[in-house]
Amino acid sequence: MPRGAVALFKPWPPAVSAPMRRRGKMEAVRTCVGCRSRAQRSSLLRVVAQESQIVVDPSATLPGRGAWLHPTFECLDKAQNRRAFGRALRVEGTLDTAAIRSHLTREQAEEAVTSHE
Ligand SMILES: [Zn+2]
Repeated sequence: MPRGAVALFKPWPPAVSAPMRRRGKMEAVRTCVGCRSRAQRSSLLRVVAQESQIVVDPSATLPGRGAWLHPTFECLDKAQNRRAFGRALRVEGTLDTAAIRSHLTREQAEEAVTSHE
């Protein structure tokens, strides 16, 4: 019998992986304040209010109440039109979303650059 043939009969992957697969990757799900649909945390952008300005929190580490948003202008506009940020972040009055806008602009510019390469 040639060397290595034995390897074919090894049970792989081990049985351990079955329950891991079922439980594993239980990624947190958040609701987008723009379109109100649920999405995985990693596909949404976290924003927090600082004074009357919204700042983006791409690493989701800033303290305080956060709102989650698809990183698209569409969802940003929806959220803004419905004043969803104020409600989600418990802030009264108008919130300045310029920081989100410039963040999205920057991201989309980067995407455009990479897709042309
Ligand atoms: Zn959305």
